[in-house]
Amino acid sequence: MPSYDPNNIFAKIVRGELPAYKVYEDDRCVAFLDIMPRTIGHTLVIPKSQVRNILDVAPDDLAHVMQIAQRIAKAGIKAFGANGVTIQQFNEPAGGQVVFHLHVHVIPRHDGVAMKPPASEKEKPEALAEHAVRPPEASVHVPIGERVVPDYVGAELRVEERGPGPDRGASDGR
Ligand code: 5GP
Repeated sequence: MPSYDPNNIFAKIVRGELPAYKVYEDDRCVAFLDIMPRTIGHTLVIPKSQVRNILDVAPDDLAHVMQIAQRIAKAGIKAFGANGVTIQQFNEPAGGQVVFHLHVHVIPRHDGVAMKPPASEKEKPEALAEHAVRPPEASVHVPIGERVVPDYVGAELRVEERGPGPDRGASDGR
């Protein structure tokens, strides 16, 4: 396996050298909106450690990233009124990986709505900015810094406080 390139795009986002619409951050991982979302709310969860993909990540770091991916999945369903969520994770060119810093795709899904093809359309910055702070009435919004509790993750916490929402019915999930 090739070695990790510290100049990849996501490493620069971790170091703050490139901007991103972050929706969650802690000492070990960051979640931010994909610039070419396959659906509204398509979010990437990445570790801060310099790892290429699932083949070289420490098990603890992987576990943490997946725990946050689960939290983002629940938050995304609430924030975007989705019926389901698709999780994707690609490794090495043969496995479909394009950016070589481990990332987990969290893609909110709506019944009967197909995902756009990968990398098909760049989202407008103003749309991403709005998506990153959904729902608008959210009360928990901390500016990006050492720790971010964004609105849509805050929404998930409020859902847990209130209990599960109504059954939205089956989804084809594809
Ligand atoms: P993968 O490596 O899993 O095939 O996909 C990489 C993902 O990163 C794609 O979904 C692509 O749209 C996204 N992406 C590529 N460059 C950037 C960027 O500069 N910023 C953000 N937020 N996403 C990016």
